Amino acid sequence: MRLDDQRASQNVEDRRGDGPGIGRGTVGIGTLVIALVAGYFLGVDPAVILGLVSSGAPAPSAARVPQPPPAGDEMATFVAKVLGSTEATWHEVFVAGDRRYQEPKLVLFSGATPTACGTGKSAMGPFYCPADQKVYIDLAFYRDLRERFKAPGEFAQAYVIAHEVGHHVQNLLGISDKVHAAQQRSGNRAAANALSVRLELQADCFAGVWAHRADSRSRILEPGDVEQALNAAAAIGDDRLQRQTQGQIVPESFTHGTSEQRVRWFKRGMASGDMRQCDTFSAATL
Ligand SMILES: [Zn+2]
Repeated sequence: MRLDDQRASQNVEDRRGDGPGIGRGTVGIGTLVIALVAGYFLGVDPAVILGLVSSGAPAPSAARVPQPPPAGDEMATFVAKVLGSTEATWHEVFVAGDRRYQEPKLVLFSGATPTACGTGKSAMGPFYCPADQKVYIDLAFYRDLRERFKAPGEFAQAYVIAHEVGHHVQNLLGISDKVHAAQQRSGNRAAANALSVRLELQADCFAGVWAHRADSRSRILEPGDVEQALNAAAAIGDDRLQRQTQGQIVPESFTHGTSEQRVRWFKRGMASGDMRQCDTFSAATL
């Protein structure tokens, strides 16, 4: 992946050095369980996060001043450039649709951190909180993606960010709110899960739209990159994760879609660069 010319976003907030933190030390131990849970929740949908609001959540410190990552931090620079690339893409798309794109913040944290959606924990994997419009990532997840899920590569890591930003786009467009209202009306777990799958696959498709447009604009892709993202999308499909963790698959419990579906929708966005191709809610087959 080539990001040399990419402007780094100023919207990265670095909380990795925040005191002893809460739940710190949970990373690195029990890694298998944590990694599998993290993978399962990769790109946790906002409804799930909202359901995780913990009573033990510490109040965000009023004195907290958001800190940018230190200069020279390679991983943080990578994240900031990918985020900057998503900003350029979505500004372009929103302007074309006569809308204004509000950039999300991206928070780097270790272990656990307070969010407007309750305590964010590493074990949840990267996630987006609609209430504060921030993407949260513990970079330890990238090690799990590489080692446990066998999905290495910078473009696989970029896909993870682009997927979360896809949830932000859904939030700005009012799609997430509609889905959550429909989920509550359905009053039925299987129907709510089916809607969650469509929301997640759309975020994958939006990640593909970003990849297409970012590459058209700045030639970010190098040989093998697309395969890395597809491999990552496949590695975190519900069917594959359930087979690994439970030895069996229960389609009604899927919340993110199968490996094949995640790959298909990412490809669909990537092929066209057109978000109108991402209407997973009207699609007869996913
Ligand atoms: Zn997601």
